[in-house]
Amino acid sequence: MINRRNFLKTLTGTTIALPSILNANENLKKDIKFDEIADVIIVGSGVSAHICAAYLVKNKLDVLMIEKMDRIGGNSVLSQQDFAVLNSDLQIKAGIKDSEELFLNDLNKAGAGYNHLEHSLRIIRNSNEAYEFAKSCGVKYANKLKFLGGHSVARSVETIGGGGACIKALHEFFLANKGRFKNETKSDEIIQDENAKVIGISVRENYRFDRNLANDDRQNLSGVKKNYKARLAVVFATGGFSRDVEFRSIVNPRLRLAKSPSSLGQTAGALKQMLKIGAIATQLALSRFSFGIPTEDLIYGIMLDKNAKRFLNEDGDRQGLSNKILAHMQNLNTTSYPTIILDSTGFANSHDPNRMQSFIIAGKMKKFDTLDELANHFKLNKDELLKSMQIYEDGIKKNKDEFKKDLSKIKNSSMSKAPFYAMTAAPGLSYTPGGVWADTNMRVLHISNYEPIKGLYAIGEATGGVHGQARLTSCSIPDCMTSGIACAKDILKGI
Ligand SMILES: Cc1cc2nc3c(=O)[nH]c(=O)nc-3n(C[C@H](O)[C@H](O)[C@H](O)COP(=O)(O)OP(=O)(O)OC[C@H]3O[C@@H](n4cnc5c(N)ncnc54)[C@H](O)[C@@H]3O)c2cc1C
Repeated sequence: MINRRNFLKTLTGTTIALPSILNANENLKKDIKFDEIADVIIVGSGVSAHICAAYLVKNKLDVLMIEKMDRIGGNSVLSQQDFAVLNSDLQIKAGIKDSEELFLNDLNKAGAGYNHLEHSLRIIRNSNEAYEFAKSCGVKYANKLKFLGGHSVARSVETIGGGGACIKALHEFFLANKGRFKNETKSDEIIQDENAKVIGISVRENYRFDRNLANDDRQNLSGVKKNYKARLAVVFATGGFSRDVEFRSIVNPRLRLAKSPSSLGQTAGALKQMLKIGAIATQLALSRFSFGIPTEDLIYGIMLDKNAKRFLNEDGDRQGLSNKILAHMQNLNTTSYPTIILDSTGFANSHDPNRMQSFIIAGKMKKFDTLDELANHFKLNKDELLKSMQIYEDGIKKNKDEFKKDLSKIKNSSMSKAPFYAMTAAPGLSYTPGGVWADTNMRVLHISNYEPIKGLYAIGEATGGVHGQARLTSCSIPDCMTSGIACAKDILKGI
């Protein structure tokens, strides 16, 4: 008997052979000739794309994954992939008492109430299933838990080899299960039928991302146009837009000045494709920053602006500090980032001096035997630098800091003992919490009626409203993984 699923499988591998049947059955827009066909097309090749793809190919669907860049994995390969999991085998083994309520409180606290409850619960309740599924696909985790900032208990697992190893394992699993992959293939437009159901995408094959363009999405014309048909669904796993200076400056002018450690392909082009067909944009003005060193170690130093003047209390969370830095730069009308300086006592008091040493080896942080060298290197006025250091030292002696830093927290650190360590304190936009609004099955909802846009899903960082004001550390990976699996399950349910 030919049921719908078998019928679909008979089409697997067919490219353009059956468009007339499909046209007749599915009422396509006129004159569209499809060059490629798959059950599911996934746009993007990061962790959300891969986990969704792995789940689908395990269930025997024909999946085509496309990636616009020449390399695989987007921001996911740059990430450490610390992964918060409720009731993992490691938590149970260590006897750690965790609960839905505790995890939810942590997420809400970080998100400051901007995060949507249903998505927090989606992450919490399905994190362990996602972790176990990733393991079953070959992703390896260290045999220890991390107790990370903002979490009330140790609950984050550490991916061995970080994002690179995770994507490699998932990609091998995907290909071994007949998944198909094309890089340098960029989605340009979503194709809908006359009933507004998403039935495919228009792409450019042999597209070459050009880092020299001011806006690659708008200016790059490379590649050959093709149309791809999806029998069941198109999934946008296209990540955030932290490298799109033009777009992020529109949604929040302060973001114009931020740097970004994200991969070059983090642009807003894919988001705009979804908005163009009626997706809802949410929380685009929010941001998540990181510094070159752990934010909690900034407290041991002083931060000086381009005039070598201190302007804030260095004790703060990454969000608060970054906003203050960017606001101060706006006031000074400068694009110069401040400098963070630690002396040898502050450096020794940092949470993990070995890790700090690795930043020196990597060239992120510099070590100076004299303040002359430091001032020259960072182009700071030496007299002003000495003055700012002296005021800070005097404050320590009097236990009264100019910017109300709680000096009891700095464990006898000073600002006078060579060698000195310094680096540029540039807020790096590493994550964009905004994106399209989807339900918990990851169906993208339409702005006119809040109903799902048929055939269209979004997962991972491409979605918005999940984390709110400040994403809790190690919670993007459980979001990407659980959204990828929820989406795959919903697609399978519809067969
Ligand atoms: C340095 C760093 C460290 C991090 N560490 C952690 C951590 O330890 N724990 C944690 O939870 N989170 C961490 N994060 C955040 C987390 O890694 C990301 O949020 C997550 O990997 C995003 O995955 P994704 O699949 O949604 O998108 P991505 O991995 O960014 O993948 C999206 C892909 O889509 C492609 N694409 C976009 N548009 C198109 C198009 N039109 N056509 C075709 N392809 C397209 C992009 O090129 C990209 O490859 C970190 C982020 C950074 C930058």
